[in-house]
Amino acid sequence: MSTKNSPILKLDNVTKKFKTEKGDLSILDGVTLSINAGEKVAIIGPSGSGKSTLLSLIGLLDTPSSGSITIAGVKTESLSETEQAAFRNKKIGFIFQSFELITPFTVYENIISPLEIGYQDIPQTKIDKLITTLGLTPRRDVLPYTLSGGEKQRVAIARAMVSDPAILLADEPTGSLDRATGETVLSLLLSAVEENKTTLIIITHDESIANKMDRVFEIRDRLLHERV
Ligand code: ADP
Ligand code: MG
Repeated sequence: MSTKNSPILKLDNVTKKFKTEKGDLSILDGVTLSINAGEKVAIIGPSGSGKSTLLSLIGLLDTPSSGSITIAGVKTESLSETEQAAFRNKKIGFIFQSFELITPFTVYENIISPLEIGYQDIPQTKIDKLITTLGLTPRRDVLPYTLSGGEKQRVAIARAMVSDPAILLADEPTGSLDRATGETVLSLLLSAVEENKTTLIIITHDESIANKMDRVFEIRDRLLHERV
């Protein structure tokens, strides 16, 4: 298991090519990266530069063309597909621009859904605390269609964090919210992340968001460059 200052995430010479009608399209070409537990990391880069592709690889939603991804000491490419799915459910939290809530489930049911899928215990005190931190207490038993965009994203954040993931991955989480709502959601996200000492990797176009993170990386020319 990870200890303080040991990397929670390591990418070793990761490449990703997509097969297209016009031949192979190389998106990432030798990405090497080491992130320590509890770090908050921004990934920036122009549209189409491969940010979402990189996040899908880290989140085990897609596989690299070559190279290695180690999460919490586990070489993910050595896991079977079933093991990867279980690992993803327990160790990785996702937040997307478009919320992706389950429409017939209440707020509370949405939040605990990863635990139910993974047949995990429901740690009630911890969940109550998460709901409080994200300001969702008055919304706990309503259906998603009654929520504002900001509230929907706060539910998605709680759901992504409920299994205490080793890494929380957020792909432009405030991209569909207005500026003021986005700022509120981001500050609640950071409160929850800091309270739980969660490692955060956030994709953003927004310099003011990037500047709130511990480290900032830019994708350029199919490589990741750290800003210093
Ligand atoms: P970003 O998130 O930085 O905007 P993406 O990672 O979504 O960029 O996409 C990077 C590039 O890879 C884009 O040119 C996109 O069209 C291409 N791409 C993404 N997924 C696929 C796929 N499954 N097949 C072919 N090309 C893809
Ligand atoms: Mg993207």
